[in-house]
Amino acid sequence: MDRVRANGATLPHLVPDGISGEEERAVVAVIGAGPAGLMAADVLRSAGYAVCVFDRMSSVGRKFLMAGRGGLNLTHAEPEPVFVTRYTQGGASLAPLLAHFGAAHVRSWAADLGIETFVGTSGRVFPVEMKAAPLLRAWLRRLQDPQFGLPVAFHLRHRWVGWAAGGELVFEAPGGEVLVRPAATVLALGGGSWSRLGSDGRWVPGLRVEGVEVAPLLPSNCGFDVQAGWSDVFRQKFAGSPLKTIGMAWRLASAAPVAAAQALSTYAPLLPMRRGECVVTATGLEGGLVYAASSDLRSDISQSGQAVLILDLLPDWTSDRVLQAVGAPRGSRSLSSHLKSKLGLDGVKLGLLHELVSREDMRNPRVLAAAIKSLPVTLVATRPIDEAISTAGGVCFDAMTPELMLMAKSGVFCAGEMLDWDAPTGGYLLTACLATGHWAGKSAVAYLAASGTLTANTQV
Ligand SMILES: Cc1cc2nc3c(=O)[nH]c(=O)nc-3n(C[C@H](O)[C@H](O)[C@H](O)COP(=O)(O)OP(=O)(O)OC[C@H]3O[C@@H](n4cnc5c(N)ncnc54)[C@H](O)[C@@H]3O)c2cc1C
Repeated sequence: MDRVRANGATLPHLVPDGISGEEERAVVAVIGAGPAGLMAADVLRSAGYAVCVFDRMSSVGRKFLMAGRGGLNLTHAEPEPVFVTRYTQGGASLAPLLAHFGAAHVRSWAADLGIETFVGTSGRVFPVEMKAAPLLRAWLRRLQDPQFGLPVAFHLRHRWVGWAAGGELVFEAPGGEVLVRPAATVLALGGGSWSRLGSDGRWVPGLRVEGVEVAPLLPSNCGFDVQAGWSDVFRQKFAGSPLKTIGMAWRLASAAPVAAAQALSTYAPLLPMRRGECVVTATGLEGGLVYAASSDLRSDISQSGQAVLILDLLPDWTSDRVLQAVGAPRGSRSLSSHLKSKLGLDGVKLGLLHELVSREDMRNPRVLAAAIKSLPVTLVATRPIDEAISTAGGVCFDAMTPELMLMAKSGVFCAGEMLDWDAPTGGYLLTACLATGHWAGKSAVAYLAASGTLTANTQV
């Protein structure tokens, strides 16, 4: 068994170059090399501490790199008071952290790394190159550049499995078990989705055993399954098709419960309708608009077994105009070609109407026009957590001090998606990860200073 201790004999490969003997007291462990962990490491290293970053994977920042595949949405340019309201869970706890390191800080942090950003039409902020790889490369270069202090030491293929009876961190590593007793620890283990990229949520039982309250990890920004599934014909023809420029309304979790989900369609005009797009999947719907609704839909499903989305297939048309067009004489034309020529409805939108509206209702212009403007889609399940963009749930804010230190474990701080907050896509996820990573790093620095742990620099 390998053993690394605060003082005395250590395995040199686990300690950053330039640290030895008494100085080892200043070693800080960061577990998880995603954006939250790397930010904590950056802050600690800048304060002069020797930082060891551990990750179970063989390379760092895999989910961050994946996030860059479709255009890395780093943050959002909307005003700060609006920004913080996007966190449907944990917003009050995150507010001071976002004030300390929010959207503007994310942009200047990226700029410091040589990555310019721009604001897209929707207010979302992206790197000019759209990708995560150049940003991650520049960040890793800085973390390992001796010009800025002790290079951060990376220990990959080290899976953290908990604490030993003596309080050491226990890792499963290629050479066997490794025990580490750092001066402070930052856990940044991610949520529980896309486990092949590293964050598999297996840390949850380990923390609970230590008396840490952890809310169950749930899929967020995820797809949903429709009631009874799509028909074979619809699925084969339209799975993967985008439903472009539609309106979508749903019951907000904060609103009064609706007795029967179907009754929601009655109130459809009263619900806030958002414009955007989503994608038909083999079993239901996913994509931007659905992700924005996911936390409300998930909570409806868990309370009543189902949730209802109201789709407006022609958001630029008034209801009267739709009714007029649907009711116009169609002569010998089929209903499909009538809807195509008069309303431009075809493809997946038309397919959806045929899928969800009965034949009889399709023949009734009034009912059909109402369906085009507010088509109820009943959802009965979230897609599995591993498919979700992010996870809700995690370490409860009540289980931590305001500095993000675990009340059950002095000197252990938590950051990133493993905390119990939730938000839609739009750059809010990465911003919260970076903000909590920054805060946890800063708090660990204060903790080390208060406990008399000198930095490596001041000891020399
Ligand atoms: C397809 C996709 C696209 C996305 N796009 C965006 C986007 O454009 N904008 C946005 O804001 N967000 C986006 N996200 C979400 C964002 O990537 C995550 O919220 C963010 O990466 C979480 O950061 P983190 O540091 O908390 O955790 P992670 O990035 O998940 O990192 C956690 C790290 O901990 C390691 N780890 C886990 N358990 C252990 C253990 N026991 N021992 C050692 N190491 C361990 C993992 O290997 C991993 O490297 C996207 C996510 C996905 C899946």
